[in-house]
Amino acid sequence: MPSDLPASAAAPTASPLMQRARRVLHQVYGYDAFRGQQGEIVQRVAKGGDALVLMPTGGGKSICYQVPALLRGGVGVVISPLIALMQDQVEALRANGVRAAALNSSLDVGEQRRIEQAALTGELDLLYLAPERLSTERTLELLDRLAISVFAIDEAHCVAQWGHDFRPDYLQLEVLHERWPTVPRIALTATATPATRAEIVDRLHLEDAQVFVSSFDRPNIQYRIVPKHRPVEQLVSFIRDEHAGEAGIVYCLSRASVERTADALNERGIAALIYHAGLPNELRAANQARFLQEDGLVMVATIAFGMGIDKPDVRFVAHLDLPKSIEGYYQETGRAGRDGLPATAWLAYGLQDVVQQRQMIERGAGDPMHKRAQTRALDAMLALCETLECRRVRLLAHFGEASAPCGNCDTCLTPPERFDATVPAQKLLSTIVRLQRERGQHFGAGHLIDILLGHETDRVHGYHHDELSTFGIGTELQPAQWRAVIRQLLALGYLRTSPDRYATLGITEAAIPVLKGEQALELRRDLGAAAQRGSRRGPRSAAAVADLPEALHPLFERLRHWRSETAKAQGVPAYIVFTDATLRAIAAAQPASTQALSQVSGVGEAKLAVYGEAILEIVADF
Ligand code: ADP
Ligand code: ZN
Repeated sequence: MPSDLPASAAAPTASPLMQRARRVLHQVYGYDAFRGQQGEIVQRVAKGGDALVLMPTGGGKSICYQVPALLRGGVGVVISPLIALMQDQVEALRANGVRAAALNSSLDVGEQRRIEQAALTGELDLLYLAPERLSTERTLELLDRLAISVFAIDEAHCVAQWGHDFRPDYLQLEVLHERWPTVPRIALTATATPATRAEIVDRLHLEDAQVFVSSFDRPNIQYRIVPKHRPVEQLVSFIRDEHAGEAGIVYCLSRASVERTADALNERGIAALIYHAGLPNELRAANQARFLQEDGLVMVATIAFGMGIDKPDVRFVAHLDLPKSIEGYYQETGRAGRDGLPATAWLAYGLQDVVQQRQMIERGAGDPMHKRAQTRALDAMLALCETLECRRVRLLAHFGEASAPCGNCDTCLTPPERFDATVPAQKLLSTIVRLQRERGQHFGAGHLIDILLGHETDRVHGYHHDELSTFGIGTELQPAQWRAVIRQLLALGYLRTSPDRYATLGITEAAIPVLKGEQALELRRDLGAAAQRGSRRGPRSAAAVADLPEALHPLFERLRHWRSETAKAQGVPAYIVFTDATLRAIAAAQPASTQALSQVSGVGEAKLAVYGEAILEIVADF
C-alpha cells in the first residue's frame, strides 16, 4: 500500500527547502510524508530543474508538480489533455484551499476573461490549460505577462506519434522551452515503454531533464484470470461476494454486450451504468458524471471509457472479454485502486476469446507487418492468461521490470493444478491430422470433442467419424476440460483456427514434436465452474474496510453516508470531500479533538476548517 512505501529523505537532515515542502504537504494535503520519489522530484523542480517522471497510475504524480508550484510562487501552468481531467484536479485543489482554475473550450468568454484576470493579478496558484490553447497568440501573450513558477506536462505520452493516445496538439509544447527557457518543466506519464520515453525527451527537448522511473507495480491490485463458463453469472457472484456496494468498471468488447451485461446487473440489484461510443454525447457525459459523483456504481463500458478517469476509489476492474494487448490490459486494470487500498483486477477468459481475437486480426484491414505486431501483442496477452507462474512477475517483465512472486495474484494464492497433457494433446492433434490427411476435412472444437468422447451425434454418423481410430479414445477428460486443453493449445501456438466463420482447427509447426512424442506438454487443469466458486474466500466485507476492526465498520459507514450527503449538497464527487483512505484512517483513529483530526492523513487545513466539526460530531456520537 502506498502509505507503506518508504518516505524519501529522512527528516532531521532536510534542507530548508524540503522542510518548507513538507510543511506544504502537511498543511495543504494533510499528508505526513512524500511517497516514493515524490520528495526528490519536488526538490529537483522547486530548485528550477527539468524532470521527466514515469510513475504508475495512482503513484501520486500530481503532488510532484503542485508542491513545486506552491513553493516557487507565481502561477504553475499545467498542460492536460482532457477537460474532465482538468476539472477533477481543479476541484480537488480548491477543496484543499489552493487557488486553481482551468482554461478550456468548455468556458464562455466571460468566464475566460475572469480566469485570465485572476492569473494576471496573482490570484491563482495553478492554471490548467488545454494543449490547443498554445496555438493561439492570445494565450501566448497571457503567459508572457505571468510569473510562471513551473510548466507541468501531464499525460506526456500524448506527444508520442505512434502511441495510442497521440494528440497532435502536444507537438506544439515545444514552444514552452523556446519561449520561456528559464521556467522549469516537468513532464509526467504512466506509460512506460522505452520507445515512448525517448520520444517524449526528443519532442519536448527534455535532454537536460532528470528522469525519475518508479516501479510500475501496483501492489494493492490483486490480479485474477478465471476460465469463462457463464460470464455474467460469474461476474455477478464476483461482485456480490467481494465488492458489494463498491464502485467498479466492467469492460466488454462490443456495444451490444455492454448493454446486455448492464441489464443483467441491474436486474440482479447491482446498480450499473453504460458507456460506449454509440451513445448520444449527453447520455455518455451524464453517466460518466454519475459514476464519478455517486458512491458504489458499476460502469459497464467499452474501452472508450477510462482515459482521464481519476476516480481514486474504483475497487475493481473486470474484463468480460480478452484485451488485445498487455499494455491495454495494464492501463485498464490500473484504473482500480488509485487510492492504494485493496482492489481487484478480474478477467474471465475462454476458448471463444482466443478464436475470436485471432480471427479479428486475420480478417482485419492492415498490412502484414501491422498484423504481425497485433499477433505478437495478443500472444503476450494469452501467455499471461495461461501462465502457471505469478501473474505480476509476467506483467512487470513485460515492462522490463524483474520481480519475485507477489503473493497477491490468483496463481500465487491458489497455485493452478498442472497436469501432464502430452497424451490428451496427442489424441487431439492426431484426430485433426487424420481428418485432414485422410479425408481433407476440417472441424471446430465442438465436433472434435464429440469424436474424442465417442458421442454418437448426427454429425458423427453423417461423416462416419465413429469409424476413426481416435473415436472415443478421450474419455479421461470432461468436455469442459477438453475445451480448456484446446484453448491452451491455441493460446500457446500449437493450434490455429481458420479465418473463415467456421473457425476450424489446424495444427502448427510447433505441434509436430508433441505429436511425435519428442516434447512433453504441461498444462493448467482448470477447475470446473462449481469448484472455482468454492475455492474463493467467500463473502467478505467491502475491500475499503478490509483491515479495519469489525467494530469500526459502522463508524466507517456513517462517515461514508455523511460524505455522500455532503458531496451531493456541494455537487462534487464524493472523493473530493475525502477519499476512502482518509475516511478509513479517521475511523481507525477516532479523533476526539481538532488537533487529533488534523493528524489524520488526508485532512489538510482547508478541509479541517470546513468539515472538522461535522466529523468530530459523528465520531463522538459513535
Ligand atoms: P496519479 O496522478 O499518479 O495517478 P494521484 O496524484 O492522483 O496519482 O494520487 C493518487 C492518490 O494518492 C490520491 O488519492 C492522492 O491524494 C494520494 N497521494 C499522493 N501522494 C500522497 C502522499 N505523499 N501521501 C498520501 N497519499 C498520497
Ligand atoms: Zn503473484
